[in-house]
Amino acid sequence: MAHIPTSDGRPAWRASVLTLFADIFPGPLHVSLVGQALDAGLWSLTTHQIREFGLGRHRQVDDTPAGGGAGMVLRADVLGQAIDAARADNPESPLIYLSPRGRPFDQAMARSLASGPGVVLLAGRFEGIDERVIAARGLIEVSIGDYVLSGGELAAMVVIDTCVRLLPGVLGAPESLAHESFENGLLEYPQYTRPREWEGRSIPEILLSGDHRAIEAWRRAEAERITAERRPELRRPKH
Ligand code: SAH
Repeated sequence: MAHIPTSDGRPAWRASVLTLFADIFPGPLHVSLVGQALDAGLWSLTTHQIREFGLGRHRQVDDTPAGGGAGMVLRADVLGQAIDAARADNPESPLIYLSPRGRPFDQAMARSLASGPGVVLLAGRFEGIDERVIAARGLIEVSIGDYVLSGGELAAMVVIDTCVRLLPGVLGAPESLAHESFENGLLEYPQYTRPREWEGRSIPEILLSGDHRAIEAWRRAEAERITAERRPELRRPKH
């Protein structure tokens, strides 16, 4: 696929996904701001169907686990070829295997990925992938949380969505990023909009005062209160 520069000359951020279910992409990535940015060429999405590299008439991609046990494992030889094909198309970007064993995905990782050329994401299925592929291709294992999905596709979409909304020009007002949850180690303050009164509940008076310094201070205090109550560990420095 041609590498189309954006109108301001920056190359588009490139997402490549290796999957057995290419037809579920772009799925939710096709709507709203992220979808508009895709249409506008701010980022590109290429899917690579692992099945195309499958073996034999049935294009087999998996086999039973060495040592026995339940389920099937994606074969190293098949994945090696699929990864090399995706790499040829997106050579500079980090190569990530979505995996519950991986480093936890967070906003800092999203920021770092968004500031680079893009990402190549391998979505596993079944019991996962042959371990040898991870070392042989230098895959970085990344987890989206401490639970087990049935496949890596939703995790790939989570990573892409989070990164793309950080790309310059994707959000209408870039300053809206600055106060978001996880920036500055804080969860976001509460948001309100019209109507002013709803089911007997009113918007906090201060937000209607027009006093921007007071509003800023209130929001900061609320963000600190909510973070202390719900996620105190976010305030502690990371290792
Ligand atoms: N047997 C594996 C789980 C396999 S789940 C284990 O116990 O670790 C099948 C696929 O779903 C994985 O290969 C991975 O790509 C994806 N997956 C599942 N949970 C995930 C998570 N929390 N984060 C990222 N990817 C996940």
